[in-house]
Amino acid sequence: MKFENKVALITGGTSGIGLAVAKQLAEGGAKVVIVGRDKNKGEKALDELRKIHSDVLYVSADVTQSAEVKNMVSKTVEAFGTLDFAFNNAANVEVNSLPTHQFREEDFDKLIDVTLKGVWLCLRYEIQAMLTGKGGSIVNTSSVDALLCSAGTAIYAAGKSGVIALTKSIAQEYGSDGIRINSICPGAIRTPLLEKKFHGLTPEQAQAVEQKYNSLNALRRIGKAEEAASVVTWLLSEESSFVTGQNIVVDGGITYI
Ligand code: NAP
Repeated sequence: MKFENKVALITGGTSGIGLAVAKQLAEGGAKVVIVGRDKNKGEKALDELRKIHSDVLYVSADVTQSAEVKNMVSKTVEAFGTLDFAFNNAANVEVNSLPTHQFREEDFDKLIDVTLKGVWLCLRYEIQAMLTGKGGSIVNTSSVDALLCSAGTAIYAAGKSGVIALTKSIAQEYGSDGIRINSICPGAIRTPLLEKKFHGLTPEQAQAVEQKYNSLNALRRIGKAEEAASVVTWLLSEESSFVTGQNIVVDGGITYI
């Protein structure tokens, strides 16, 4: 797809699904800003992107911090003049995974901040920028966990369900301003986030986890970051110009009702 003269902002663009989207947009000629907290990771991702396109930038920001989100949007507009596309994708699960009766309140706040409030903050500042431009297209990352609500995922699933709700409601609010907003629900996608589940396992244990993931979906395999990215790239593009307020599931067929 062609994205010449388009400006894209991607949170969590330094790794996994976000970096795969950054590459696809850069390949189409877009100017791309990637965001994450870790500067080393950001610089490494930028080196990869510079091989594709020279107009790329890394901005360090924590999406849970309003001032940093505001700065990330300002830096994008300062550098490249406008904001056409945004992919609100950053999230982590840097909390102790415990049963509900032991789950710590501070971890609840951390998880909801990064999965839900972060997306809302990004939308807030990105929409401000898009309203002064020519509209735009935004995609938010939810998760198949928002649909499955399996035991042990309650807070993450709640945050990610909130992302779908924000997407649907805010898309209704800004459709007449030429701003489209959609979300995706990835299933198991092989990225550094998923690879953490394999850390410290014996080869036999790792194989068992791999088999568990493979058996979950109709295609019997873990997805690639590029496979989730191509759906996002399509949603950002003009190819999906009559699609807004939708949640697209990219899970190889885990969910089917
Ligand atoms: P990943 O490879 O670990 O990438 C996560 C990205 O988010 C990194 O660039 C990370 O950079 C950034 N990030 C994390 N916390 C941040 C914060 N507070 N502020 C700014 N940036 C932050 O993970 P991924 O699998 O691509 O995940 C991308 C999205 O997909 C997430 O929303 C995740 O919940 C969702 N998802 C993934 C899967 C899967 O199987 N992979 C399934 C369902 C949903 P820093 O660490 O440097 O900040």
